[in-house]
Amino acid sequence: YLGRLRRTEPDLKSFLYVSSDEAVLKQAEEIDRKIGNGEQLGPLAGVLVAVKDNICTADMPSTAGSKILEYYRPPYDATCVKKLRENGAIIVGKTNMDEFGMGSTTEGSAYQVTANPWDLTRVPGGSSGGSAAAVSARQCVVSLGSDTGGSVRQPASFCGVVGLKPTYGRVSRYGLVAYASSLDVIGCLGSSVADTGIFLQAISGHDKFDSTSSKQVIPDFTSQFTSVDDMESKPLRGLRVGVIRETLEDGVDSTVVSSLQYAASHLEDLGCTISEVSFPSFSLGLPAYYILASSESSSNLARYDGVRFGNQISVDGLSSLYGNSRAQGFGAEVKLRILMGTYALSAGYYDAYYKRAQQVRTLVQEGFKAALDENDILISPAAPSVAYKIDEKKNDPLAMYAGDIMTVNVNLAGLPALVLPCGFAEGGSSGLPIGVQMIGAAFDEEKLLRIGHVFE
Ligand code: GLN
Repeated sequence: YLGRLRRTEPDLKSFLYVSSDEAVLKQAEEIDRKIGNGEQLGPLAGVLVAVKDNICTADMPSTAGSKILEYYRPPYDATCVKKLRENGAIIVGKTNMDEFGMGSTTEGSAYQVTANPWDLTRVPGGSSGGSAAAVSARQCVVSLGSDTGGSVRQPASFCGVVGLKPTYGRVSRYGLVAYASSLDVIGCLGSSVADTGIFLQAISGHDKFDSTSSKQVIPDFTSQFTSVDDMESKPLRGLRVGVIRETLEDGVDSTVVSSLQYAASHLEDLGCTISEVSFPSFSLGLPAYYILASSESSSNLARYDGVRFGNQISVDGLSSLYGNSRAQGFGAEVKLRILMGTYALSAGYYDAYYKRAQQVRTLVQEGFKAALDENDILISPAAPSVAYKIDEKKNDPLAMYAGDIMTVNVNLAGLPALVLPCGFAEGGSSGLPIGVQMIGAAFDEEKLLRIGHVFE
């Protein structure tokens, strides 16, 4: 893995920081030693993991893709990182991302643009583009991402890997740099459903440092991953799958629609009953998401004042210290979000925007509830298109936001969703991957993993 990482990294630029070979090999040798002594090892012993740069690591920088955190070295590990280390994982480095998670291409990083391993002229998706590209190019085994509105699932789709967004609260957010706290979750990327499930097992659970982390029992996700030899016996018999009609309408690439239809027929062959479900509030989720995410971010990012947090640009006087630190530390997209959020929360506009967006959030939650009362899982594309060219949407934020239509509703409702490859479109030298999104009921990752494992 290290050799491949070193060879491919100059083209891909998935990492903002890579551990030294010595540091990685030392940990690997330590595991060898334990094996030699017959010691009990954790389930991730020796597994090379990459971590998105908005997740705190005590021994590596954690910039969240922003200049304002360029010199930040967290004094602690995020809870999920701590758990990974306890399970024997080796953290190989920190992956590139759109600044603070705000973006869908990874072009919004203050440091570098990551390329899609399937076609170096295209974006890997975002904001966890570095984490998805790293798994796709086998620079690591699995990686951590974060998903506020699709940032694990859309890059998984663009890079042809598996992306799992857990239920809100399944994984502690302690040590995750906050973007929009009511939507943020830490998620897993891997090259198979089983890998992401084993990975999720290691990082799940209540944490006293995150009061929104859940005390729900954590099932044994790995029990799903027995081999499925006999496809003729319809291993998914009896499961009801709803195809969300509104996700296959105008504005969705025809290759994406046909891949989704293929996915539905494959599920039917495996024994599922397929039906179409209507989700009337589906298209309302996107504007509501952008109001809520911007509002929460404008509040969360207030802490970067150059005093307590953030690189300090020191000048005369306190208010110019705040002003200069923020003006020079934040990139354009982050400033746009702070402005939108501050506007939406301001006294005269609160009812028209923030409050209305919260009402839409309730509608979306009810829409999912109705659809999931009738079905075990729902399916949709993970994105309306395949990976597009670098620079194509760079100066058109609204076009970029529109690409999040398939994923944001799931965050508004806090549900778990799994994205896995289901087809290819023409492009690049060997085609461009397309992913299917499977959405489940809250805390039912188990079912998603079982279906996904049989599906792949
Ligand atoms: N693209 C979306 C945004 O910019 C989602 C990002 C994310 O999930 N972090 O807000």
